[in-house]
Amino acid sequence: MAEAAKPWEWPEAQWRKIVGRAYAGRSLAPKSWPGGARCAVSLSFDADHETIPLRDSDESPMRISQGQYGNRQGVPRIRKLLDRHGVRASFFYPAVSALLHPEEIRAVAAEGNEIGIHSWIHEANTTLPPGVERELTLRATDTLEKLAGRRPVGMRTASWDFSIDTMNIIRELGLLYDSSLMADDDAYELLADGEPTGIVELPPEWIRDDAVYFNMLRFSGLRPYTPPSAVEEIFMAEFEGAYAEGGLFLLTMHPHVIGHRSRIGLLDRLVAHAKAKGDVWFGTHEEVARWCKDNAPA
Ligand SMILES: [Zn+2]
Repeated sequence: MAEAAKPWEWPEAQWRKIVGRAYAGRSLAPKSWPGGARCAVSLSFDADHETIPLRDSDESPMRISQGQYGNRQGVPRIRKLLDRHGVRASFFYPAVSALLHPEEIRAVAAEGNEIGIHSWIHEANTTLPPGVERELTLRATDTLEKLAGRRPVGMRTASWDFSIDTMNIIRELGLLYDSSLMADDDAYELLADGEPTGIVELPPEWIRDDAVYFNMLRFSGLRPYTPPSAVEEIFMAEFEGAYAEGGLFLLTMHPHVIGHRSRIGLLDRLVAHAKAKGDVWFGTHEEVARWCKDNAPA
């Protein structure tokens, strides 16, 4: 078998094809936000819970217990915080996490929060054999619909591991939006092979992700080197930038990460700070995607 060509040997058509699979098209940044608000805030919680060790075939009761913390302390603290501020958010569930905690996902949905797709067991899409991602994503979508009572309209790939097959799966499911790709600060339309898809991308970023700053692994050098006060400073600066530009501030968090006593306060202060501006609109990812799709300049 001939050896595959090296990237520097690729013809132009090849690197253009690779780049064009799920590329950023026109900006969907709206001229204004609902109620004439200056800026939009959209909070999301990836309720991974026990699926992180399970995904790695890691049967350690200790690491499973760190995930269960998300159900026992993280989500209850987050629900209380959202209720106190009168704000709703988007919760992305791996299907296995939802099956382990059906009472949690039902309560989260009943409080008006959005439930979104987040893999079957937090598998990494780019490592799966052909066809498996599609089967798992379809099964996960059906599972969430059954548990939460409503079919999800949005997806966040686990670990934002959007594969070369993901776009076709999103189109097959007829989803409104994805939230895995990072080509902008504001919403944009996804292109597939140069063609507009009508799918809204709500870009996350590792900068606006709690796990980046707080994760640790006992048997590696990974430690939470960033104190909560510094994480608060980074998130505040990202919010202030969105406010100054009239854009979107989208924040990704994890109940088992942000839910700890030393960390939940930073989220509380961030939400209070944004609300105190008086002209900030809080929407779920679904609400933001619909607003952007309907109100973006043509
Ligand atoms: Zn996740």
